[in-house]
Amino acid sequence: MGTRKFIGSFTQQEPLTEAAIDAAAAILRSGRLHRYNLMPGELGEVALLEREFAAWQGSRYCLAVASGGQAIQLSLRAAGVEPDDLVLTNAFTLAPVPGAIHAVGARPVLVEVDEDIRLDFHDLARKAETSGARFLLLSHMRGHLCDMGRLAVLAAQLELTVIEDCAHTMGATWNGIRSGSFGLAGCFSTQTYKHMNSGEGGLLTSDDPGFMARATILSGSYMHYGRHGAGPNPEHFAEPRYEMANMSARMDALRAAILRPQITLLDGNVARWNRRYAAVAAELARSNRIVLPIRPKAEGMVGSSIQFRVLDLGETGCHEVVERVGLRGVELKWFGCAEPEGFTSAHRSWRYVDPQQLPRTDRVLATLFDMRLPLTFSQEDCSLIGRIICEEVGEVRR
Ligand SMILES: *Cc1c(COP(=O)(O)O)cnc(C)c1O
Repeated sequence: MGTRKFIGSFTQQEPLTEAAIDAAAAILRSGRLHRYNLMPGELGEVALLEREFAAWQGSRYCLAVASGGQAIQLSLRAAGVEPDDLVLTNAFTLAPVPGAIHAVGARPVLVEVDEDIRLDFHDLARKAETSGARFLLLSHMRGHLCDMGRLAVLAAQLELTVIEDCAHTMGATWNGIRSGSFGLAGCFSTQTYKHMNSGEGGLLTSDDPGFMARATILSGSYMHYGRHGAGPNPEHFAEPRYEMANMSARMDALRAAILRPQITLLDGNVARWNRRYAAVAAELARSNRIVLPIRPKAEGMVGSSIQFRVLDLGETGCHEVVERVGLRGVELKWFGCAEPEGFTSAHRSWRYVDPQQLPRTDRVLATLFDMRLPLTFSQEDCSLIGRIICEEVGEVRR
C-alpha cells in the first residue's frame, strides 16, 4: 500500500492570460463597465463576446447574462413556462437547476438517471405522459450527454420543449454537434469552476428569434437591444419590448473582456482536460471494485471532472474512502451523503421541491464519487491521484 500524498488544489484554476488581463485593464481605464455605456459606433466587449460565442457554438443568437442560473431562468420564462407549470428535469443535477425552475414559480418533476448518470428515457416518457409537462430542462450533469438523437425523437413524440443546461458541456459534442444545439436553447455558465472563467457569468444560445428577443428584454436590455452582437432583428422585438419584464441579469463589459480571449482556448483546453481524465481513468480501470461510467462513441466529452462508482462499500465504507483519500490530499465528493456539503447536494435536500420517489437515482448516487480535474494538474498528478484512489478503495488486480 502506497503512502504518497498528492499536493495540489482541486479548486485552483489556471491564471487568466495576459491578453485577458490587458483587455480587463483597458475596460477599467475606460470607466465604461456597463454593456450599454458605449462610444458612438462602438460595439463593446459584451456584444463582441455574444458574436464570437455564437460563431464558436454554431448558433444564430447568443445573449450574455449574469450567471448560468440566470441563463436557465430567463430561458424558462422566454420559452413560456408559467407559474405552477411542471418542468421535467434530471433528478441528479446541481441545485441551481431546480432553483431556476422554482424561481419562475414552476414545479420540477424529477426524472431518474441510469447507472451511467444519463437521463432514463423510460422514466422520462412515463413522467411526461402522467404529468402532462410540456418542458424538459435537460441537465448534462458532470458532462454525461444522453443519446441526443434518441432524445430529440422522444421529445418530439412527447411534444416537449427542450432547454439544455450545458454548464458542464461547453465544448462537448454528440455525433459532432455541440451540446446546446439540440433544443430550443443552450444555457452555459462562465463561473470559475466551469469551462471558461469570469468569476460569475452565463451565456444563452438559440436559433429561435422570438425566444431570443423575449430573453433579451427579460435580461434587462431596456430598449438597447439594437446594441447586441448576436441578437435577432428589430421586428422580433415589436411585442416583447412591451410584454416582457426587466429581470436585470446583464453581463458587464469587464467579464466579457476577460471571456473573449478564452473562447479561442476552448478547443485546446477540451483536449487537455481529456488527457487528464484519461490518466485518472486508466488507473481507476485497474481496480476490480471501481466502475467507470460508459462514454459512448457518439459523445465528444470534456473530462473536466470524473465520476466513478464503488458498488460494495456501504455507507460507512463510502465515508471512510472519502476520509482516507482526503488524508492523502485527494478531494473526493460522494453524492450518497445524507447532508448537502459544499457545492454537492441531492434531491432530498431541495425541500422547496415536492418530495419525489427516485429509487434508481438514489441507488446510483449511493455509490457515486466525483472529483474535479482542474487544468493546473499535470497528467502525472492525475495518475498519482488515480493510484491513491485505487489503493484506498482496495483490491487493485487488473
Ligand atoms: C454551475 C451550474 C449551473 C449554474 O451556473 P451558475 O453560473 O453557477 O449559476 C447550472 N447547472 C449545473 C449543472 C451547474 O453545475
